[in-house]
Amino acid sequence: MDVTRRAFAFFGATALSSIALSGRAYADVPSNIRGVLVQETAGCCRVTLALDRPAQARTFFLSEPARFVIDVANSQLALPGGAVGQGPGAGLVRRFRYAPQEGGNARVVLDLEGPASLVRQEIGGRRSATLSFDIAATTPSAPPPAPLERPARQQARRTVVIDAGHGGRDPGAIGAGGTREKDVVLHCALTLRDALQQRGYHVALTRDADSFVELEDRVRFARTQHADLFISIHADASPNRETAGASVYTLSDSGADRAQNMMASQNWDLDLDTRNALARDILVDLAQRDTTNRSAQFAQLVIPRLGQVAPLVRNTHRSAGFFVLLAPDVPAVLIETGFLSNSTDERRLGDPRARERMAEAMAGAVDAYFATPVVYAAAR
Ligand SMILES: [Zn+2]
Repeated sequence: MDVTRRAFAFFGATALSSIALSGRAYADVPSNIRGVLVQETAGCCRVTLALDRPAQARTFFLSEPARFVIDVANSQLALPGGAVGQGPGAGLVRRFRYAPQEGGNARVVLDLEGPASLVRQEIGGRRSATLSFDIAATTPSAPPPAPLERPARQQARRTVVIDAGHGGRDPGAIGAGGTREKDVVLHCALTLRDALQQRGYHVALTRDADSFVELEDRVRFARTQHADLFISIHADASPNRETAGASVYTLSDSGADRAQNMMASQNWDLDLDTRNALARDILVDLAQRDTTNRSAQFAQLVIPRLGQVAPLVRNTHRSAGFFVLLAPDVPAVLIETGFLSNSTDERRLGDPRARERMAEAMAGAVDAYFATPVVYAAAR
């Protein structure tokens, strides 16, 4: 996933295609950030950036001290205080600071009272070019859940769905040497498919050629395949060319909430025996929580193995609301194989033998994952 498209993973295919149609001249004109507003709302804190035209943004958290960073691509800070300054926070946000970044990007940093997570984010579309983010304080982790029996499908042949990011008209990140993310990740996906098939897994790919696949269709595909595991493969890019290494993402708790909403809006039926709406809610919630746990479990297995064959980004297991991770009953991870903006990583990702080593590492993690006993959570 590259810098500019990362944010769009949250908004889904509709936003992606509308931007794709919006034309080149449109995208080339920088947007002006005219206002930043921090408001305390029910249970969270809303940060709104007012722009004069739509822009793409990426966000991330930093710790010690806790900060939330919003990088807006191709934009200028046209705030009353000038291009560099600060403003008042509210609730969880102590204050915000802003400054231009290299490469024509603008950065807004929110200084936080403590650790937080992204609950929701929105863009206003082409008419109202607003970026809005809801962040909430991270609640301390719950006591360990009591185990239940695993109900079914223990012995079946495992199905792994591999999702090569981007494709077709969506090239993804472009490397310093011209490598396109969509090509590199397809090669990685095909290599991983071979490695998994050799180990006896049933493997299905969301794309096996240079074709465009909507994000929603990728998720739907994983569900119709009754995937036991979903692995989305991407390559990153950063304005900082020094940044290198692989990273692994799973669904965050806030993303899990989104999955609930998405399921409701799309009439997705979970494969569960439901007697009434309440029972259904509880069962969905259990399936959801188990999925999140299982995804994290796979992430913990794949990270050290990847680390043996490739450099890793620090704090590599990250939680995110990436759209493709949102199927409520399929454990899913998104693996960023490296940074195409870094020339060493770009060379590594372009080397078939390096890709094979990564595929073997991932396949080893898949073996370990299915060998790990399943623990079903009974209570939060
Ligand atoms: Zn990508």
